[in-house]
Amino acid sequence: MAKPRFPESERPKERKPPWLRVRVPLSPELDQTRGIIRRGRLHTVCEEAACPNLGECWSSRHATFMILGSVCTRACAFCNVATGRPQGVDPDEPARVAKAVAELGLRHVVVTSVDRDDLDDGGAGHFARTIESIRAASPGATVEVLTPDFLRKQGALETVIEARPDVFNHNIETVPRLYRTVRPAADYEHSLAILARVKDAAPSIFTKSGLMVGLGEEREEVRGVLDDLRRHGVDFVTVGQYLQPTLRHIGVARYLPPEEFDEIRTEAEARGFLMVSATPLTRSSHHADEAFEKLREARERALRR
Ligand code: SF4
Repeated sequence: MAKPRFPESERPKERKPPWLRVRVPLSPELDQTRGIIRRGRLHTVCEEAACPNLGECWSSRHATFMILGSVCTRACAFCNVATGRPQGVDPDEPARVAKAVAELGLRHVVVTSVDRDDLDDGGAGHFARTIESIRAASPGATVEVLTPDFLRKQGALETVIEARPDVFNHNIETVPRLYRTVRPAADYEHSLAILARVKDAAPSIFTKSGLMVGLGEEREEVRGVLDDLRRHGVDFVTVGQYLQPTLRHIGVARYLPPEEFDEIRTEAEARGFLMVSATPLTRSSHHADEAFEKLREARERALRR
């Protein structure tokens, strides 16, 4: 099913500024990454979201796996993933993800999924099996999950927590005022609550969340989201520029210049997050392996204080 067309987004309001025009470096490593993903019949959010960092990430053999199929039960206004009735869950997918992780030699793996409101557990069991398979095939690897909100899925979050990912990421995506337009099937307070529940249940799991800017939010509203995330125990926040994937998606209201991201980063750091990444091209999984090492170091420093 196609995404609804947003009339206000028929034409981009501004040309994409130079700091967002990235060249895709062609490299043998990028081809190797693509080959491993194709042979494994796997999906990545890198491709599905038309991520601007794909060339850079895949050239360094880093990809973010998208499990539970390529069709989502929701229709968020910013997201390029297809909406419709998803396929059945593939029981062999966790093993294929684990095999690809080993072939790519990943030290830190990011796994996300489409929303599966059609499943009783929202796909939580499949997340847990994927974490277990990765750990079995690559015992040294750390695992980061970027999950849906498991709205109205009793026990789903607990299933993921019990699988003990190293990082639990759930993106808040935007400011509460824009939820109805940008993320209509989600609930801002619920998204905050699941981040807090993870921290309460398993304080050693790093919690992470991200938001996009340039959707029409005010800076004061961004400050409010940063306050809320910190108040709910989030360790790591990411802030990046929203890019309109196609004309069927909500339009970019504004391209924030890099200096404004520096200001947001300073404001976030002042709130006490262990880590902050705020640049135009920040995506929650960008450089996730390096970020994870820094996160661990930041926690050790904080504990020594
Ligand atoms: S930033 Fe994340 S989604 Fe984008 S290409 Fe890199 S790994 Fe993939």
